[in-house]
Amino acid sequence: MSTTGSALRELHRIHKQLTDLRGRLDRGPKHVAASQGAVRRMELDAEQAKDAHKKARVSSDEKQLQLKSREAKIDDLKSKLNQASSNKEFQTLKDQIAADQQANLVLEDEILESLEKIDQLAAKVKKAEADLATAKAEATKVKTRIEGEQAGLESELARVLNELKEAEANLPADYKSDYLRVARVRGEEALAEVNGEVCGGCYQMLTPNMMNELYLAKPVFCKSCGALLYLAEGRGIGD
Ligand SMILES: [Zn+2]
Repeated sequence: MSTTGSALRELHRIHKQLTDLRGRLDRGPKHVAASQGAVRRMELDAEQAKDAHKKARVSSDEKQLQLKSREAKIDDLKSKLNQASSNKEFQTLKDQIAADQQANLVLEDEILESLEKIDQLAAKVKKAEADLATAKAEATKVKTRIEGEQAGLESELARVLNELKEAEANLPADYKSDYLRVARVRGEEALAEVNGEVCGGCYQMLTPNMMNELYLAKPVFCKSCGALLYLAEGRGIGD
């Protein structure tokens, strides 16, 4: 029974390693999914930026067409001016030309503004596309790295699971089944090192009787959290 402490310490070490390996195996695919999610968001951003740019261009083109057609109309009115048959008709044509010219000045300002806006939107498209390319490269890198790691982690997990089986097989029969029952449900938390006279799993104070049993290298389960307790190296008999 003198090996109880060291056997449990070893078991706990193996369980902690399993928790770590499973955590890393679990996080890997989440990391990949997150980087792919970022790519999808940036694809959407780039699409929206392109769409806004296109709409601004269409609207600007329409304004330029409108300007040209109104300029043609002004030319037409000017030629009619020379053929006016009355003073009143002459004045009406002049007023109309003035009104159209005024409207075109406003339109020219709008076109200038729209061209500036198009430049800004084009810059946004460029940035969104660059961001997307960066995110895609990053996602590819993450995927390659994780896939490489996963294979290593899987084989490491298999190796450590084997180690666990061997360590469990060597446990003394008097508490093996109790341990196995707790370990199946709680994994790493099935075991706890005693810190001073406190359970390292739940910080419950242990009774003097429990401490005595531990010093005698007997199996003791924490009454509060149910963990199988063990002493740190050098504290128990035979350690
Ligand atoms: Zn406890």
